[in-house]
Amino acid sequence: MSTALYELTIHAARAALQRGDFSAVELTQSLLDRIAQVDGQVNAYLTVTAELALAQAAAADACLSRGETAPLLGIPLAVKDVLCTEGVRTTCGSRILEHFIPPYTATAVQRLAAAGMVLLGKTNTDEFAMGSSTENSGYFPTHNPWDLARVPGGSSGGSGAAVAAQMAMAALGSDTGGSVRLPASYCGVVGLKPSYGRVSRYGLVAYGSSLDQIGVLAKDVRDAALLLGVIAGQDPHDSTTMPAPVPAYSQSLSGDVRGLRIGLPDEYFVEGLQPEVDAAVRAAIDVLAGLGAEVVRISLPNTDKALPVYYLVATAEASANLARFDGVRYGFSADSASILDNYRDSRGQGFGAEVKRRIMLGTYVLSAGYYDAYYLKAQQVRTLIKQDFESAFTQVDVIASPVAPTTAFRLGEKVDDPLAMYLSDLFTIPLNLAGMCGISVPCGFDAQGLPIGLQLMGPHLGEATLLRAAHAYEQATPWHTRWA
Ligand code: GLN
Repeated sequence: MSTALYELTIHAARAALQRGDFSAVELTQSLLDRIAQVDGQVNAYLTVTAELALAQAAAADACLSRGETAPLLGIPLAVKDVLCTEGVRTTCGSRILEHFIPPYTATAVQRLAAAGMVLLGKTNTDEFAMGSSTENSGYFPTHNPWDLARVPGGSSGGSGAAVAAQMAMAALGSDTGGSVRLPASYCGVVGLKPSYGRVSRYGLVAYGSSLDQIGVLAKDVRDAALLLGVIAGQDPHDSTTMPAPVPAYSQSLSGDVRGLRIGLPDEYFVEGLQPEVDAAVRAAIDVLAGLGAEVVRISLPNTDKALPVYYLVATAEASANLARFDGVRYGFSADSASILDNYRDSRGQGFGAEVKRRIMLGTYVLSAGYYDAYYLKAQQVRTLIKQDFESAFTQVDVIASPVAPTTAFRLGEKVDDPLAMYLSDLFTIPLNLAGMCGISVPCGFDAQGLPIGLQLMGPHLGEATLLRAAHAYEQATPWHTRWA
């Protein structure tokens, strides 16, 4: 059977488009048909921009016929609905932004557009990216394409499921505590969280500003490298972006990891790890060792403090960031008698339970008398966690671990137990606190056929080495060729 167009990777489709094997309109139509066929069950998209996509594809075809090239010319992609898109509804998975149409486009999306992408639509997310399963979406949960009774992970679960079900060639996500890597792991795709400051956050609706970073979910490491090359770099609209030049990431995929030092942190191979996850990750490390990497046992001693620190810092920042949703300036506004009632009612009706929980937690830890005990203390411990990584990266080039303690859990299994939900991010959160980069790469399946993810972590701006290691592993294994 011949390959359907929607099954292609970006790098394969690019070459075929240049050759004229098919048109960008045909490619886009194939993806739109796939969405029409599959998304009724998966629910990855909040908004499908079919008309816009076909118009952009026709424009791309016109460029192609003139012999023009651009890195993503005619490539259909999806964008997590926490990224502003001018003229296209942006909900953040929240009822409070149900009708919000941004007047501008996020820099990362703008850069994809300038590189020729076709926008397929906006993907589902936990409300304001707060969650690990997309069940906190104010609209509907997304289902895992490998088992529709299970979650796709979160909060970029719509993006993960869209790529896994081949309803997008790749997608943008955001990662504050694991929201790109976790859905990538649960859905069996590649998920890259760049270093803090590598990609502009301008137009990303802020959750935890010192942690947030836009990342990519892709079918393979080569596509992830290509996309990072497009979205990375300094932006005058985001003063936290780094001036460091953007390396030619695609050229770093040499397949050679000889002599690369890979650290295995004791604290990430703990009791409670699903045995199949433990076995798959250890087997993946053996593959890397077989390719010539040197495996070193390391310690990140403050790992156990990362989760509490994160839930103090992230909620504090969220409580400040979400203050702007007041029923006056954006989206939903309640019909109330007075202005005070309007604030209360708009926020009361517009926000879901998890968002309210976080605003209350965050407001509490920032309040007079508690600031020093909670927020300040958390910031101090955050520094210790960062120092753990800094000292580990003097001994090793890359750190390897599981992405999550288990494979995808059942829809409904953890919704009533926020703490159990928070624990899914045990192994992803420390990296956000340290501001460093990480990637999830498929490394096998459990007995139920659910994907398992290998996490590789790198130092600040260490994406090139990280991608090289991930790519070498991927090319030595069959996992990236299996689809739901
Ligand atoms: N699950 C974590 C949280 O709920 C991380 C979310 C994210 O990375 N956006 O905060």
